[in-house]
Amino acid sequence: MHILIVEDEQEMAGLLTRGLEEESCQVSVARDGRAALELSALEAFDVILLDVMLPRMDGLEVAKRLRGRDEETPVLMLTARDALGDIVKGLDAGADDYLTKPFSFVELLARMRALVRRQQFRRKNVLEVSDLVLDLTSHRSFRAGEEIYLSVTEFRLVELLARNAGRIVARHEILANVWGPGREVSENTLDAFVRLLRKKVDHGAEPRLIRTHRGFGYSLGPLTRV
Ligand code: CA
Repeated sequence: MHILIVEDEQEMAGLLTRGLEEESCQVSVARDGRAALELSALEAFDVILLDVMLPRMDGLEVAKRLRGRDEETPVLMLTARDALGDIVKGLDAGADDYLTKPFSFVELLARMRALVRRQQFRRKNVLEVSDLVLDLTSHRSFRAGEEIYLSVTEFRLVELLARNAGRIVARHEILANVWGPGREVSENTLDAFVRLLRKKVDHGAEPRLIRTHRGFGYSLGPLTRV
């Protein structure tokens, strides 16, 4: 694995570098936010470990800019203990996961492996339900060969339903997966998003794929018989 460590504290950066090199990772270190952006534009990394408190540009801004240029490398954010505000902001900014300092190295490795696995899966993967095709790499979607244009949230919603095609996905499950835990999203917002999604996915197409299960949730495609 090729890892970019973005950390200004020398001791921490050294510790991480040694640990990761022992795990046969190839490691590059950026000491501030701008250097991180420059390095990640030049080289392809499998994971970016991103400290939040950084000189020149903080980690939140770095995460935002990485996402802004369609950078798909998973970002694991490292935050100070209990900095809940940072965690929420970091995930909003586009980080894929976070660890609070101090963390165990074993946990760091496990989180990194999980991120890489998810990413590899994503790279290959295309989801198909009936004639609806979701390309998880490019985040493009097609119905009967015609491209449909979805917002980021709409795509996440239809992706979740597609991953669970044939079964009802409960409302709370959708809220937690699409908007993330701890986000205040009303049930009305969910319904509004499904309406928008349905207009795009099912408009003028047969069969209609998105189904409402009143009081329970939503499903995509015909339900699997049990
Ligand atoms: Ca720092």
